[in-house]
Amino acid sequence: MWDFETDPEYQEKLDWVEEFMREKVEPLDFVAADPYDKSDPKVMAVIKPLQQEVKDQGLWACHLGPELGGQGYGQVKLALLNEILGRSRWAPSIFGCQAPDTGNSEILAMYGTDEQKARYLQPLLDGEISSCFSMTEPHAGADPTLFTCRAERDGDHWVINGEKFFSSNARWASFFIVMAVTNPEASTYQKMSQFIVPAETPGINIIRNIGTGGEPAEHGSHAYIRYENVRVPADHLLGEEGGAFAIAQARLGGGRIHHAMRTIALAKRAFDMMCERAVSRQTRHGALGKLQMTQEKIADSWLQIEQFRLLVLRTAWLIDKHHDYYKVRKDIAAVKVAMPAVLHDVAQRALHLHGALGVSNEMPFVKMLVQAESMGIADGPTEVHKITLARQILKQYTPVDTLFPSGHLLARREAAEKKLAEMFELEVAAL
Ligand SMILES: Cc1cc2nc3c(=O)[nH]c(=O)nc-3n(C[C@H](O)[C@H](O)[C@H](O)COP(=O)(O)OP(=O)(O)OC[C@H]3O[C@@H](n4cnc5c(N)ncnc54)[C@H](O)[C@@H]3O)c2cc1C
Repeated sequence: MWDFETDPEYQEKLDWVEEFMREKVEPLDFVAADPYDKSDPKVMAVIKPLQQEVKDQGLWACHLGPELGGQGYGQVKLALLNEILGRSRWAPSIFGCQAPDTGNSEILAMYGTDEQKARYLQPLLDGEISSCFSMTEPHAGADPTLFTCRAERDGDHWVINGEKFFSSNARWASFFIVMAVTNPEASTYQKMSQFIVPAETPGINIIRNIGTGGEPAEHGSHAYIRYENVRVPADHLLGEEGGAFAIAQARLGGGRIHHAMRTIALAKRAFDMMCERAVSRQTRHGALGKLQMTQEKIADSWLQIEQFRLLVLRTAWLIDKHHDYYKVRKDIAAVKVAMPAVLHDVAQRALHLHGALGVSNEMPFVKMLVQAESMGIADGPTEVHKITLARQILKQYTPVDTLFPSGHLLARREAAEKKLAEMFELEVAAL
């Protein structure tokens, strides 16, 4: 059954979200600082009632199943929600579905002990604290088999030593999930484990917080961290010893598709601004939108967004169907590859149509371009996902043992003539 309509009950909720976003959430982006910083009581006093409104609407933490306080709507409905929330920096925190906390809460739910869930997962789900996922290292990112950060057992503790790079939101996090080598002798995919490290543990040294694009240094939120003799109790191991790769894969699948859902919103925002400019800005020949090269920009952008949106929704539908990110890895990889290109292309055209204003910091386009570039790197670079996509596709094909390919026209014609000759003979016999 193919169906491109939203059920009326959920559509009502989406309509509520549209208005709530416009009236109460999007203005926050201009006045409140960082959504991950929970330390300012004045900001928290504004946020809490908004979060309560979301909870009252049954829209809190929609990425989670009901057993974890979510709604169990599934990924398709989450996509329809996220393609609105993605417009605002603050919205994911107001709706309890902000990365990287979403991925961290998923793996705590899947692999955490009861004690770990009570201490770390519950306050995260309640929006009381922020968290950090610390995996990439300064010398290695796309290839995790090269990581060297080490955790060694010492009595009933693990001691972590090493460096991590681009650990987002470390400066605001109450705990870190750190990936470290626990058995260098083990096979590549079994030598690492993940640990929950409370932020107050001695030895977590943030060397600096790195910004992206033109972000001022004091606003940087991607930490370069040196872990120096960081000691955690043995029960802070997350999941099994040696199980880090499996946990990371479980975590990143969800993260990638959720980013894609929110990216639809950003691309649509750029598109709306481009169209408004096209009908408003005048040349001596009339509005910009009367010029064919502007029309081409608009047509190409609309097509790219719609194609991407359908790919995201279909992938979300597949995740709902299989309940297994691994089974849907080909489609998730495809979404991950398409995402930066769509945002880049639409934001670039929108910027260009705004002329000098477009490149200025009075418009959001340059920031969008930096975001697009970040999306092509974070959670694995585009090339790596193209490799996954191509490998999965090629598994569906078998080699031929004939000299010429199966699509060779001469061979196909010969086969067709043979087949039709038999059919003609039957027809003649029936007369
Ligand atoms: C905004 C942002 C937020 C991030 N947040 C986090 C976080 O919270 N926690 C965390 O642990 N990490 C985080 N990262 C790090 C991210 O996961 C890594 O940047 C990513 O895995 C790539 O690693 P790298 O930067 O070391 O690039 P490299 O591994 O050095 O790759 C550089 C380039 O080399 C090419 N390349 C690499 N490998 C291949 C290959 N196999 N085939 C073809 N080409 C290849 C690609 O062009 C790639 O872009 C974040 C990154 C960004 C940009």
